[in-house]
Amino acid sequence: MKPLAVYIHVPFCARKCAYCDFASWSGREGEWRRYFDALVTEIRLWSGITDFGLLKERFHVQSVFVGGGTPTLVPAELIAEALELCRRIAPFDADAEITIEGNPGTLTPEKLRTYRTAGVNRLSMGAQSFDDGLLRALGRIHTAAQTVEAVEMARDAGFFNINLDLMYGLPGQGMAQWMDTLHRAVALGVPHISAYSLILEPGTPLHERVARGEVTVPDDDAVITMQRAAVASLSKSDYGRYEISNYAKPKSESRHNLAYWYRGDYLGLGCAAHSMLDDCRFSNPDALDDYLAGERMADVQRLTRWDVIEETVMLNTRTTRGIDLTAWENRFGRPFASKECAALKRLAGAGYIEIKDGRLRLTGRGLEVQNAVVLELLEIQEAMER
Ligand code: SF4
Repeated sequence: MKPLAVYIHVPFCARKCAYCDFASWSGREGEWRRYFDALVTEIRLWSGITDFGLLKERFHVQSVFVGGGTPTLVPAELIAEALELCRRIAPFDADAEITIEGNPGTLTPEKLRTYRTAGVNRLSMGAQSFDDGLLRALGRIHTAAQTVEAVEMARDAGFFNINLDLMYGLPGQGMAQWMDTLHRAVALGVPHISAYSLILEPGTPLHERVARGEVTVPDDDAVITMQRAAVASLSKSDYGRYEISNYAKPKSESRHNLAYWYRGDYLGLGCAAHSMLDDCRFSNPDALDDYLAGERMADVQRLTRWDVIEETVMLNTRTTRGIDLTAWENRFGRPFASKECAALKRLAGAGYIEIKDGRLRLTGRGLEVQNAVVLELLEIQEAMER
């Protein structure tokens, strides 16, 4: 029996944020029920015989992530019903991590209680900033005070495993504002914090505004300084950095996210959801209408040996645990690099990687330029494959 991570996508939001290019729509309340009916049909299909066999005979569910979109916008009973049905796909571990992603402006004590009764034991909240001006500029529907209230409300409902998402590199954001946001998040005592740099996605209103020169975002140097400040400030408060953008108190790392970075099997349900089972990747259509029309499992791709090597290097090196060199050798039938590999020595000598206790990991400096280090590590793999 292999561990399985299940993702359920809920593509509805109260309002579209200015920077967002995720598969999410506002103003489609009339389709919530129809969407969940389609989701139920999809869950039923995965509960029977599939191209991957009967999943319940091959997998056990170690984590579920209900993401979006804003899952906490729709009636909580719809979420509870979907989660209950998911238990037919494969048995859930007794201690399965079950997360719901929430927007502080949409939570109520009743919804939170319904999630708890449905087995949800982790809440991931999009706080983004504790500066109301920045929240307005991003088009967020909540205030900083509502984030604080939401954390208190969640604890009252029995949620202690809470993540706050924060963003830096925002338009007009200065270092003092970012430090204040970090301090206020830490002061709430949540065990997990994700700190992401804003990415300006073409086609989003914020991208247009920046392109027209109406707003400016901090430059690359300022963004790196903000990232370093996050690493320093969070580590002082006992949050270990375990992935480029993720920090956790001891034993509070997200099992679901680790499953992605360590290439576990995952099943995505709902529109725009991606899956990978037995090294076969596929996804549902991005467009809500296509999903509602019954389209499923597009872009089926069976990964080649090289695809798996590439993914393993790219994903494992995002984490501070890095690549397990024994597991690598068992999987690919050869070492990661030759003993005398000059490129590896150069990366280590320059302080980008370290090899210790049977693992190859990127240092703090290496994580800042992860893409470039990955390219060099892949060149080594190309040579080893010849
Ligand atoms: S709440 Fe999240 S998914 Fe919805 S529009 Fe904002 S960033 Fe996008």
